[in-house]
Amino acid sequence: MSTRGEEYDIIIAGLGPAGSALLWHTARRGFRVVGIDMRKIENIWGKPCGDAIGAHHTPEAKLELPSNVIKNNVSAIDIYSPSEKIRYRIHGEGYIIDRNAYGRWLIEEAEKHGADILLKTNIIEPIVEGNRVVGVRIKSGEKVEEVRAKITVEATGFTRVIRRKLPSNWSISEDILPTEYEVAYREIIVYENHEVDDPSVIRIYLNQEIAPGGYWWFFPESKTSVNVGLGVQNGRGYPTPITLYRTKLTNHPLLRHKYIVRNSAGAPLPTRRPSNTMVGPGVIAIGDAGYTVNPIHGGGMGYSFRAAYFALKAIEDAFSIGDFTEKTLWRLNLEYMKNIGAKQASLDIFRIFLQNLPNNDLEFGMEKKLLPEQDIYYTSTKGELELSVVEKASIILRGLSRPSLLLKLKTVADYMKRIKELYENYPETPSKLPQWIKKVDELYYRYKEEIGVK
Ligand SMILES: Cc1cc2nc3c(=O)[nH]c(=O)nc-3n(C[C@H](O)[C@H](O)[C@H](O)COP(=O)(O)OP(=O)(O)OC[C@H]3O[C@@H](n4cnc5c(N)ncnc54)[C@H](O)[C@@H]3O)c2cc1C
Repeated sequence: MSTRGEEYDIIIAGLGPAGSALLWHTARRGFRVVGIDMRKIENIWGKPCGDAIGAHHTPEAKLELPSNVIKNNVSAIDIYSPSEKIRYRIHGEGYIIDRNAYGRWLIEEAEKHGADILLKTNIIEPIVEGNRVVGVRIKSGEKVEEVRAKITVEATGFTRVIRRKLPSNWSISEDILPTEYEVAYREIIVYENHEVDDPSVIRIYLNQEIAPGGYWWFFPESKTSVNVGLGVQNGRGYPTPITLYRTKLTNHPLLRHKYIVRNSAGAPLPTRRPSNTMVGPGVIAIGDAGYTVNPIHGGGMGYSFRAAYFALKAIEDAFSIGDFTEKTLWRLNLEYMKNIGAKQASLDIFRIFLQNLPNNDLEFGMEKKLLPEQDIYYTSTKGELELSVVEKASIILRGLSRPSLLLKLKTVADYMKRIKELYENYPETPSKLPQWIKKVDELYYRYKEEIGVK
């Protein structure tokens, strides 16, 4: 086995949204960085996705978004109840992007700034020496090589090729529970002689029979082309998303028009609170590999970008003092948990409640506006159920004698607040992490007991 060249500053393993964003940032700041991915440049972000992203995400992550990668401008999201009789409209700017074009642009820009790029190359495993990560083993054709760097970034998405092979006593090796991820399937359909009503509105449908523990979506790319898919909670014995798509969704009026399928594919995605820690000695995990997807709506690109930006800050700190230990890289955890993780953890509590609500409760909740449109926006951005919402819901529910739902809603609001507080008090140093994890685990255990979820 040979070693490739000299030691790099940074290896970025995986060039999806998380890896490419960090590659772009680090190359522009003059780091000696190499990006590695098994895909070729033409379909570099080819993993299936709904391709929708809020307009605020790229500026927040200090990324440029060239206009030619935008396929469609989004002005609102419609959320439908199971019967589809109730519709909430949430206004907000966003885009449907051409993922491959954006990924390619970020990588080619980074290459212009001196990044090395290894495509069609498999990352096999991390190299751990002297109790720290010092690089990765890669395979291209039949050739196996070692690439070494001061910092290795795990950005291989849900496959987590590096994390899975780290020593099990490192906190960063934390696995995900089977019920904490969804399996999703989507098709890009092109209508032959039909046009979508308002292509600037993307649609989400809540229906536990079609998408148990998840939802199905209809995201127009243009007047005639639409990204349609569904996500199903894993670990509950539900049918596969492709089976549900074929048996339950293709009968829907929106799919009764003639169309061709331009592309179809499925993939898993984490839908839980962020990883307890995203750093270890000489290693950082970002994006799906760091479980940074929004637990409620499954949007992960924006949070991959944000995590990449916080990782950049931690990397700059590490190089400024020449220390690549877990303690210095900790800044990524502190920034992510404070700015995003606390909200995501709170939404994770809400996710567990929602996933276990039957269709009639979902319908009832939307019909009675237990959580009205403006509060959905508040909850999804702040990660809190406002007290006034719970009080309002209490009055409605008492009047309608649904005491069990009322009790659950109060419990949910209480635990959302408590987990948020725990994340806001995320440990300042790695030594205090085990104690904090114990508190988080206990809180989840009690919460699930109280609302009766296994
Ligand atoms: C069906 C579906 C719909 C979704 N819809 C949306 C949406 O509308 N909006 C949104 O924001 N998010 C959505 N998401 C989530 C979003 O796609 C992810 O959060 C996002 O792609 C995560 O980026 P990432 O870079 O962390 O991982 P990935 O996109 O998974 O990228 C990982 C990269 O690592 C490479 N890699 C993996 N293993 C190896 C290996 N062994 N060797 C070499 N390379 C390797 C892969 O080729 C890939 O390029 C959706 C996900 C799914 C599955």
